[in-house]
Amino acid sequence: MEICGSCGCIAPTSNTDCGRCHASFENNRTVLSPPSNGLMPARMKGHFICRSCGDKVALNHFSLDGYLCGSCGILQKFGMREWSQIVRHAHDTADITGFFRPSADDVRFWEVFSAYDSDVAMMFKSIGRDKSCLTKGNEEFGGIEFEMDVSPGHPLCASCSKPVKLEIKAERLHCTCLSCGYAAIYRAFPEAGNYRNCVAAICEDDRSDVSTAKTEPSSGGGAIAITCPNCAGALDVRALGDTVTCPFCKTMCHVPAQVFTRAMGKAIPPRPWWMVFEGESRRRIRINNTLKQQADAARQNEERLRKREELAQQSRLKRKDEAARRRKTLLKAGMIIAVVIGVIAVAVLIVS
Ligand SMILES: [Zn+2]
Ligand SMILES: [Zn+2]
Ligand SMILES: [Zn+2]
Ligand SMILES: [Zn+2]
Repeated sequence: MEICGSCGCIAPTSNTDCGRCHASFENNRTVLSPPSNGLMPARMKGHFICRSCGDKVALNHFSLDGYLCGSCGILQKFGMREWSQIVRHAHDTADITGFFRPSADDVRFWEVFSAYDSDVAMMFKSIGRDKSCLTKGNEEFGGIEFEMDVSPGHPLCASCSKPVKLEIKAERLHCTCLSCGYAAIYRAFPEAGNYRNCVAAICEDDRSDVSTAKTEPSSGGGAIAITCPNCAGALDVRALGDTVTCPFCKTMCHVPAQVFTRAMGKAIPPRPWWMVFEGESRRRIRINNTLKQQADAARQNEERLRKREELAQQSRLKRKDEAARRRKTLLKAGMIIAVVIGVIAVAVLIVS
């Protein structure tokens, strides 16, 4: 798969620049072969609409605890119902359009896909050709309005932008850069138990190797301070995504989006992050099951035809045998008659 050297998204063959990060593809395409551990990353970027104020709330990490709306300051629920639609879609996308995509020559796969839903099949097919993302919106009546862009690809090093190596070790996802030595560890997904194929999220809020900053009302009251989890000293955070070193105890602290939102009291824009999957997606399993059923039916049909042909052949042989026997009997009878006639003729000759 060819990916954009700037953001890691799939780089469509017929495009000259990246639809996700707008970087030019000139000398900026990286060719990656499928990873031997079968991990499938999906790049995510999305938001939902706040039910209190109607503003966008960024979905910059996976959580079932709700998201704080930066505009109105009210915690918004975004639950299993919405996430299950998104995660299933992300897995389908990462699996069918990513490293392990069925080739365009696999006509039968795409035929079965189209038979289920031709529009969706067309969209999946266009990924890597002239499109780099599939957008998922809420398709369930009465649910929360959301939009999530999902692209296949591979995450890049936060330090030098080369593709990182992904490995699952002791229920943690390890990202290592073989070029510059950058390393980060992310927790596995205990709360995504319903989606057993989603192994981890590559998102700063899910780092398991750095401490997480907290918020506390400042001593003067009113304002909320971002504090060090180790010594409770105030941290000076200017931008979201900052990893800051505590000036008092030197602990490295990551500032989660929720903490930043609460302290700053303003909305955060959607930012890209990655979900990592393993194993076949539901869509691929469904298509493969249909292909297997079709192959089984074709085999049974072939077997039926072969048996019918065999029976026909047997009865043809039987008829041939019977005809031969009848001919033999007739021949024998003819010979007996000839002999009898001969004997009679001889007898008549003798008598006369
Ligand atoms: Zn890009
Ligand atoms: Zn709001
Ligand atoms: Zn690097
Ligand atoms: Zn500290």
